[in-house]
Amino acid sequence: MIELIDIGVNLTNKSLLQDVDAVMQRAENAGVKQMVVTGTSVTESRQAIGLCERFPRQLVSTCGIHPHLASEWDASSLGDLEAMAQQQCVHAIGETGLDFNRNYSPPAAQEFAFQQQMGLAASLKMPLFCHQRDAHRRFVEMLGEYRDQLSRLVVHCFTDNREALMDYLDLDCYIGITGWICDERRGLDLQQLVKLIPDQRLLLETDAPYLLPRNIEPKPSSRINEPSYLPHILEKVAFHQGKSVELLARQCLHNSRAFFAI
Ligand SMILES: [Zn+2]
Repeated sequence: MIELIDIGVNLTNKSLLQDVDAVMQRAENAGVKQMVVTGTSVTESRQAIGLCERFPRQLVSTCGIHPHLASEWDASSLGDLEAMAQQQCVHAIGETGLDFNRNYSPPAAQEFAFQQQMGLAASLKMPLFCHQRDAHRRFVEMLGEYRDQLSRLVVHCFTDNREALMDYLDLDCYIGITGWICDERRGLDLQQLVKLIPDQRLLLETDAPYLLPRNIEPKPSSRINEPSYLPHILEKVAFHQGKSVELLARQCLHNSRAFFAI
């Protein structure tokens, strides 16, 4: 039986939270023994910690403010995140980074929140959970300034091109792969690129409830993604890397434990 850790679950999202006991049970049954709950705001990070306290064997979390919500950043945010980061269940800072796709928060606010969270991760010597969409150039530029001070960092839900991947690997980033790779239309580039990710830098995640893998047969009746579907992502990555599912599962489990110190 394979054993996996889902390194990115938005378990505080209502669609998962309302059914959380069943979601946890189905994850367990599918071999997804542990999950990292993504903190996307001060409130949601607090909720994530609450969930960790309820399911201590299965959950750890991050705490951070997502680029979409960066305009929420205020005078108390840094102190709030710093206090939460002291909790035993919090294993990384983030989700943070830049998302210029729809600019839900103005770029300047995103850059400020990103810089503050990089500084926090550096001072606490904690890993960083990053998000980048349509902002690669600026993201790499800002990351470059902090890279020496940071320990481990992951660019989660990587969907960018070869050049971006090479930039991240040059900066010694871990790469998080989601069900995007299972998409027979828009996942084609990623299917080629996963061959270039070194064994020790690959992490797997569902990013649930988003990005339901399209290779699940029969198709689930709901479009809600959940951690129990992580093996479908594992299978797809293993296929495109030309590896056995068992070997890849062992590698990713090892990487997840090393990255989050679980
Ligand atoms: Zn994200």
